[in-house]
Amino acid sequence: SDSHFPVPTSPLHVDYSLHFPHFFPSPDSPKKIEFADIGCGFGGLLISLATLFPDTLMIGMELRDKVTEYVKERILALRVSNPGQYQNVSVVRTNSMKYIPNYFEKAQLSKMFFLFPDPHFKEKNHRRRVISPFLLDEYAYVIKPGGIIYTITDVEELGEWMKSCLENHPMFESLTEEELEADPVVKLLSCATEEGQKVSRNGGQTFKAVFRRIVLKD
Ligand code: SAM
Repeated sequence: SDSHFPVPTSPLHVDYSLHFPHFFPSPDSPKKIEFADIGCGFGGLLISLATLFPDTLMIGMELRDKVTEYVKERILALRVSNPGQYQNVSVVRTNSMKYIPNYFEKAQLSKMFFLFPDPHFKEKNHRRRVISPFLLDEYAYVIKPGGIIYTITDVEELGEWMKSCLENHPMFESLTEEELEADPVVKLLSCATEEGQKVSRNGGQTFKAVFRRIVLKD
């Protein structure tokens, strides 16, 4: 149950110095986490992003205790063997379906990732899916205007579900083919994570949906 891990009462209560000791405390550059990998699993995507965006703080959110501990160890080991690198990446054990607003302020994130989430096939379990109309309201709140939400799955039905939730949400718009081509992160979706590598080894098909948080004109 959730009682086994601490939950910050608000984003102001997250102690970043524990996650990013090289960046905090830092009175002159109060950096904030900008990328969140939801259900990060063993952390492959974060490890790739850490060196691609060395000045951006990023965090994985993972429900399973042992998996979270593994990712923590993996990051610490990389920090030791690559001095100065991987200081911008961390992981937290939490239930992302409940606690996103406890971690991130309005318009804080520029990228959110949902890579190979659990499918929850049965109709009555669709409410447990990490992309849903209700949760997209929360994501639209924490992603900044112009920020991007990346999803990929090998389950066609789930891919269609995620895409239609995003298409039907008033705060998100699809990226064009040219924009997808130009974004280096899109190429990582199918190959950077452990689940993605498994699917690709087995020759499985994947289904992506990449959408932008719209910019409201006033
Ligand atoms: N994204 C990783 C990858 O592509 O290799 C992991 C994919 S795995 C199929 C789904 C992950 O989501 C599991 O590690 C699971 O523990 C995690 N998860 C499921 N529900 C979650 C929740 N409510 N909050 C955080 N993580 C969750």
